[in-house]
Amino acid sequence: MADAMVSGHVAGAGLDTESLTMMLDAVREFVEHALSPQRQLQLDHDDVCPEDTVRAMSDPGQLGVQLLFIPAAYGGMDGGAFDSYRVCEVMARHDIGLATASFATFLGSDPILVGATEDQKQRWLGAIAEQGVVFAYGATEPDAGSDLGALKTVAERIEVDGAITGYRINGRKQWISNGSIADFATILARTPDGPTWFVVPRDTPGFSAGNREDKHGLRLSNTAALYLDNVEVPADHLIGGVEGKGLVQAQQVFGYTRVMVAAFGLGGGWSALDRAIAYSLERQQGGGPLAGKQGYTHKLIVPHAVRLEAARSHIEATADQLDRGLGAGGAMNTEGAIAKLMATEAGNAAADAAIQAHGGYGYTREYVVEKIKRDVRITTIYEGTSEIMEMTIARDRWQQHLKTSGAYYRDRAAAMTTLHRNRVGVGADHAALALQALAAVLEACRVARLTRNQHVLLRLGELICHAECAEAFAQRAADALAGKRHAKSPDRFSGEALAVMSRVFAREAAQKVGQEGVRWVAGSVDAGSPEVAALLAAIPHDAIRTAQAGLLADMDRVAAILYERAA
Ligand SMILES: Cc1cc2nc3c(=O)[nH]c(=O)nc-3n(C[C@H](O)[C@H](O)[C@H](O)COP(=O)(O)OP(=O)(O)OC[C@H]3O[C@@H](n4cnc5c(N)ncnc54)[C@H](O)[C@@H]3O)c2cc1C
Repeated sequence: MADAMVSGHVAGAGLDTESLTMMLDAVREFVEHALSPQRQLQLDHDDVCPEDTVRAMSDPGQLGVQLLFIPAAYGGMDGGAFDSYRVCEVMARHDIGLATASFATFLGSDPILVGATEDQKQRWLGAIAEQGVVFAYGATEPDAGSDLGALKTVAERIEVDGAITGYRINGRKQWISNGSIADFATILARTPDGPTWFVVPRDTPGFSAGNREDKHGLRLSNTAALYLDNVEVPADHLIGGVEGKGLVQAQQVFGYTRVMVAAFGLGGGWSALDRAIAYSLERQQGGGPLAGKQGYTHKLIVPHAVRLEAARSHIEATADQLDRGLGAGGAMNTEGAIAKLMATEAGNAAADAAIQAHGGYGYTREYVVEKIKRDVRITTIYEGTSEIMEMTIARDRWQQHLKTSGAYYRDRAAAMTTLHRNRVGVGADHAALALQALAAVLEACRVARLTRNQHVLLRLGELICHAECAEAFAQRAADALAGKRHAKSPDRFSGEALAVMSRVFAREAAQKVGQEGVRWVAGSVDAGSPEVAALLAAIPHDAIRTAQAGLLADMDRVAAILYERAA
């Protein structure tokens, strides 16, 4: 299978569509076979990582999923960001723990991919591709999580006759996926010239793993602390050969890796929601199936489907831009953060709603949604917490607002208005209102200097995320209606269906930005403040209220689409 896909690779744009479809089918088939529902529940119950399955997934003779992440020059398939998103979603639909185990090898090899010398790439990327070796990514420490700059693990130079021959590493890593099973770990340690990545083989004297963590969920993924006690590695295990590049190397791939974790949120959320949809077709209450009860579908199903698809729209736009090379220099970090924030929060909320949608059965292990909820919960924490995403998003877009004297979102709103003129009914008019309201809120924050309040800054991050997802969704729906859907995008929903869902989401986004924006501005200044008065005047409240017309009818339509019945 892997060979066929290597030959099917298209340089610069990832796999061709046929090869991606083959890979998605192979992943589905492999996981379904390796992980029966009974085995999955038992492993979750016993808190055991199926190391045999993790290794088989990376074995090029079996699934070889990691080949997707490796450049062809080192024996891989040169998959792109869009390919990775699709594969990550499919894996996560089955089990986010197993997906995490594969992802950890990718993450562990990232510093090598972006920073290693040619010899190092041949050696370690080659080993991942050809032998399927398993990696762990050792960044987090007990006192350095979101703030990696606080790391305490130290690498001292070992010098012989004035030449550096190696490094002696001492410290501790915390919460490391694949920690007890990995063949190699990439370890971030402080050298005299700053944080630096090292490759540490598992059997190096002084290197050991703690007991597996007893976690809330994600129990099929091994997570453990790593201890480094006078661990000595040769100088050529320093990635890239130059000290002090570690944090830059870590940041270079954030756009890419956040899209992957966003896809985990999407996979987990949809897996739970699809179970709730199936359940509600069968479950009879109040004289008919729950699927026919508007108070049930419009609270527990429809809004979650809509938010997940809004997140997918942003994931796809970001992945596409990464594949076109627009992510150079970390430029897609903010977009990756928006995709991750929306998809993982939506996935988590959807899984929670799926428990509710199953009633008492949802609270039992047998119906699996409670496991999905426990598993998907991690996605709002690892690879950058939701709060760190909000901060990343807000800081970047705040700078854009200042640099353009407020034109940044006004221009984006105008572009949505143009889209609406060309393609009525895809939610672009509502998305324009959300962006227009956002520009007004940001301006009020500038005038009253409100981003000195960290809470205001982070709330802006959340509002920006909603407005930009509304924009991406309207564009995706318009593209689908124009026959320009991305060739690798799933076709579960027609262009018309995406348009209805986009309208529902964009109304919500406009309402949220308008209302919550006023709340945080008004809540940060004195009563009767001129800033609040100016903001109230600048926000298109009447238009946002008018835009809500037709919401319920559109929600009825979304329910009909999801339940495949006539509207
Ligand atoms: C199951 C699992 C697997 C993991 N796998 C890996 C792995 O393979 N490799 C690896 O290196 N790490 C891994 N991690 C670590 C993970 O990335 C961190 O847990 C995460 O980045 C958060 O760091 P922390 O736990 O230290 O929390 P903290 O950084 O202490 O954060 C605690 C809370 O404070 C908030 N917060 C933090 N800083 C700020 C701030 N400046 N302002 C406002 N709020 C703030 C956070 O959002 C969070 O809500 C894993 C963690 C888990 C649980």
